[in-house]
Amino acid sequence: MSKSYQKNELDSIIKIDEQKCKGCDTCTAFCPADAIDGAYGAVHKIDSSRCLQCGQCLINCPFGAIDDTVDAVDLVMSKLKDGKTTVVATIAPAVRVALGEEFGMEPGKLVTEQMYGALKEAGFKIMDVNFAADNTIMEEGTELVHKIQKYVLGMDSHEELGPLPQFTSCCPAWVRYMELYSPTLRKHLSSAKSPQGMAGPVAKIYGASEIWKVAPESIFCVGIYPCTAKKMEASRPEFTAAADYWKKRGHTATYQDTDVVLTTRDLARLLKKLNIDITNVKPAEEKDNPLAEYTGAGTIFGATGGVMEAALRTAYFVLTGEELSQLKYEPVRGLKEVKKADVPIKLKNSGKEITLKVAVVHGTKNVEPLLEEVKDGKSPYHFIEVMNCPGGCVNGGGQPINPMGTSW
Ligand code: SF4
Repeated sequence: MSKSYQKNELDSIIKIDEQKCKGCDTCTAFCPADAIDGAYGAVHKIDSSRCLQCGQCLINCPFGAIDDTVDAVDLVMSKLKDGKTTVVATIAPAVRVALGEEFGMEPGKLVTEQMYGALKEAGFKIMDVNFAADNTIMEEGTELVHKIQKYVLGMDSHEELGPLPQFTSCCPAWVRYMELYSPTLRKHLSSAKSPQGMAGPVAKIYGASEIWKVAPESIFCVGIYPCTAKKMEASRPEFTAAADYWKKRGHTATYQDTDVVLTTRDLARLLKKLNIDITNVKPAEEKDNPLAEYTGAGTIFGATGGVMEAALRTAYFVLTGEELSQLKYEPVRGLKEVKKADVPIKLKNSGKEITLKVAVVHGTKNVEPLLEEVKDGKSPYHFIEVMNCPGGCVNGGGQPINPMGTSW
């Protein structure tokens, strides 16, 4: 990342409506960054300089007093109608198991083909973020292999590599937590962009020239995520790779890689405004679209442990020449938010054995003891996955709001 995201550059996406707030403190309990001020019984306020934009307060407020204030639904509708814009939906794995709930289906129902059908009926071109997640895995897994070769096996490397342990970098709320609260450890973050960070440039570079065959500046890239923090990530000043690429080739327009983000709730609202009901829509597949091809590894990104397992499969295969069977986590009594595993690796060329130590954390607050170990130089781990939301993206702050509250 070329430029640090400073605290005060960001006006908070998430706001508390003081007319509705009862001062019940529920939001405070769910905030992973202690970013909410206000005494019990008094109106609460979010400090944007500490907020991760994850929306966990929003989906758990029992009074519906917290809003996501960045609403791109009308803008996307105008782009869909203007007849000159190629509107590309880049859609994340956790949306397809939650969108049905907004249309009265049972929670957790998988609606991939109905979702594709609805997006097509609305006029979107489709890029599945699972494809971009596969790209992230290849980059992140390869980076891990190179660090193991350099730091564990002592092999020569001229590559500029961050230190071990390597932290995952695909959750924008976790990345912001690291930047705000442990900036000295930033070099431990994987240098791989998140799936959203990769999806925009792929759509506006490869998609523009090879799939849709349109001018890149005519593509309007709509990220569709279960996550309010993705709105913040999409607007980060670093994410202009496509515009930078095309500028070198004579184009002059400036744009973000992902122009706007819709949450699962936003997408449901947009479809309803267009009178598209996914329970009635003609289901669609994307058989001939290479940007909708993906592996099972890309799909598991949406749940805690998924990124770790997906990247490890790549690293394990490169180092051993064999497929990794399912990861077996060590049971950690009373600490289920932190899962640990030892992965024995027999190197394919030398036959030498090493043990990779990995940890998976969901709920950002739970990472603190692991960060302290790294700061003290005592971390036993090689690779640590952190997802801000309890359970991972499936429980993100942009998902349907369960009136009974979440189970966490
Ligand atoms: Fe967004 Fe997923 Fe991170 Fe939650 S865990 S903040 S949904 S990327």
